[in-house]
Amino acid sequence: MAAADLHHRTPEFRAQYVRVLEQLRTFIGTKNDVILMACSGSGIMEASVANITSPGDRVLVLSAGKFGERWTGIAKAYNCDVDLVSAPYGQTFSLDAVKAALKVETRAVYMQANESSTGTRHDVEGVAKLLKDAKSDAVLVVDAITGLGTTHFDADAWGVDIMIGGSQKAVMIPPGLAYCSVSEKAWALMGNALNPRYYFDLAKERKNAAKGESSYTPATSLIAGLSTALDYIASQADGDLAAGRKKLVDNAETLAAMTRAAVEALGLKLFSTSPGAAVTAVLPPAGIDSGVVVKELKSRFGAIITNGQGEMKGQLFRIAHIGYFDYLDTIAILGALEQVAATSLKLPDFHFGKALVAAQETFVELTRIAQPELAAAR
Ligand SMILES: *Cc1c(COP(=O)(O)O)cnc(C)c1O
Repeated sequence: MAAADLHHRTPEFRAQYVRVLEQLRTFIGTKNDVILMACSGSGIMEASVANITSPGDRVLVLSAGKFGERWTGIAKAYNCDVDLVSAPYGQTFSLDAVKAALKVETRAVYMQANESSTGTRHDVEGVAKLLKDAKSDAVLVVDAITGLGTTHFDADAWGVDIMIGGSQKAVMIPPGLAYCSVSEKAWALMGNALNPRYYFDLAKERKNAAKGESSYTPATSLIAGLSTALDYIASQADGDLAAGRKKLVDNAETLAAMTRAAVEALGLKLFSTSPGAAVTAVLPPAGIDSGVVVKELKSRFGAIITNGQGEMKGQLFRIAHIGYFDYLDTIAILGALEQVAATSLKLPDFHFGKALVAAQETFVELTRIAQPELAAAR
């Protein structure tokens, strides 16, 4: 990235830009056009309200955490009339509630694929099917910022109109880029959407992208990093990016399942009733602040996990599986968690190995590597 010192109005950069947009299409798993912009994920979230809606439009927000609340905040900032289907933190909403809240005039439905603040997976396929069955004119906009690379999607077959990702999540590069795929249905709505936009004008960006250009100065070094990161993901499957993406998702799913099994074996409870694979949110034992676990892992082992966000601070801790995390990271964090449990969590019947045995067994089960085969391989 430091060496990627290309001027952006050159044939060399245009070739790189066209290539990265094509890579992103494969990574998202869509035939739709992809837009890439210099902003964090919330920038494209805002763009997908500003470009789709007019003041007074009715939109439906599905919210069960901090990122869901962000959709409501953005939609209100653009003077949309927000219908809200919410579920308590740690849960997902029922499709019946979504169906009941959907109106003929609903212009767009906004949701997360994975609510990172609570570690919850929402049913994107279910919501998409519901919109199809209702023959709704609404576009489905999915914040898949932690969903991409941790969840198997079939965006086009399901009918996701806008699917949003960010650079600092599963594609493993620094923050500063966000991207989205946009369906023809969503492009068509933009023509009569009256909310204001200037930098975040998706249609203008699409026109320029077709020529290998971005409307304004692109984040050239991040784009070089993104292309290399996507090459790396492809390299995990002999250069096939779609297969590499599948492996990345399978990896996250496996690590998340190992972690769930491990913490439950210790006698801890999951925060989410519908856990996703980007992060696992865990409740500390009653009477213990989750910050104790976060602090001890950092001070004793140099391991970084996160506390709850906002009012969830102290009430849960979150272990990540997204992107570059692997088997060894997961075994290490679970081993360290056992050490913290031994000194600070006062769990009944605690003994060393409980978490690790459960994680190991889950790994074997999910990766289907039979023990004799392992022995033979050695
Ligand atoms: C990280 C994240 C975002 C984007 O946040 P930014 O700080 O703007 O990058 C949005 N939604 C979810 C679910 C996220 O995990």
